[in-house]
Amino acid sequence: MAFVDGGPGIVSIQASAYTIPTDKPEADGTMHWDSTTLVLVEILAGGKTGLGYTYTGEAIVQLIVGKLAETLHGYDALDPNGANLEMRRAVRNVGHEGLAATAISAIDLALWDLKAKLLDMPLALLLGRYRDAVPIYGSGGFTTYTNEQLRDQLAAWVKKDGCQWVKMKIGAHPDQDPRRVAVAKTAIGEATLLVDANGALNRKQALYYAERFVAEAGVAWFEEPVSSDDLEGLQLVRVRAPAGMEIAAGEYGYTTDYFRRMLNAEAVDVQQADITRCGGVTGFLQVGALCGAHHIDLSGHCGPAAHLHAACAVPRFRHLEWFHDHARIEHMLFDGAPIPQSGTIRLDLSRPGLGLQFKHQDAEKFREQERR
Ligand SMILES: [Mg+2]
Repeated sequence: MAFVDGGPGIVSIQASAYTIPTDKPEADGTMHWDSTTLVLVEILAGGKTGLGYTYTGEAIVQLIVGKLAETLHGYDALDPNGANLEMRRAVRNVGHEGLAATAISAIDLALWDLKAKLLDMPLALLLGRYRDAVPIYGSGGFTTYTNEQLRDQLAAWVKKDGCQWVKMKIGAHPDQDPRRVAVAKTAIGEATLLVDANGALNRKQALYYAERFVAEAGVAWFEEPVSSDDLEGLQLVRVRAPAGMEIAAGEYGYTTDYFRRMLNAEAVDVQQADITRCGGVTGFLQVGALCGAHHIDLSGHCGPAAHLHAACAVPRFRHLEWFHDHARIEHMLFDGAPIPQSGTIRLDLSRPGLGLQFKHQDAEKFREQERR
């Protein structure tokens, strides 16, 4: 195939929102929810359709089908890097972070999926892969769960899916957490327990519970012990936490500058990033390069099916979060969603692009109607 004149121009960009109820009421240290909204993006060029998505608010549908679709109409479908730059420029006056970044991320994912499909190859091969599979860790253990629900969910990730790590939420009622952590540790046996406070604690609380969690349950990862906006606080907890406990954060990173600041502040032992927020494949690979330069591992936050191919193309990659809500939704709505085997998820090299097909019919009952 020759591309002297570039690739096919983008013909159309469509977006639709789906709100899926959770299977049980869910909460963490700082929020509670009973549904999750997925926004799907489909981009047509050269007779192929690229697919991307993000977990965000329905509000981005208008930004995608409006300003961003206008910006990219006719743009070379083989140049997702350039398209990403154009989108960043186009949202300057509405802000680069938050909703706009999730919109750009979903489009970027769809553009990379489209390019790989136009070239008829799996995305990881197009990006250049370091591996064919990535480890996952089970993630849930919501603060709304009973002891029995907590035990059953965490044990299943270890026994059924072969995870060597599982993560639970803490911080809603800190005084109850040592007991909940003990219940979880008993349920997972030799596997390693990780905890996530979602920024619920202050610095002194975080240091107090860090000591207890390590001593009482060998907890090896404390995520957002304090707010991820408090880089000095994260750095303090990272330096003072017991040996063997890593500090992680980064799920609210929307721009490369955010990750540069977090890494420069020496705020984390492991950097997290979410491909559906940080600029899609283009942004995620940039974060991967930053992590490499800082000798820090990168861990993917949630949306495992969206991350898999890019995660295989990052040199210092630790693991992917097998988040209960998203793993469930991806299996419901995407044909080709990865299935855990011995604690990993693996590329399917027989499928082009991200290897996913959206089940439009199954999703229809969750679809949000356009509201004006
Ligand atoms: Mg988290």
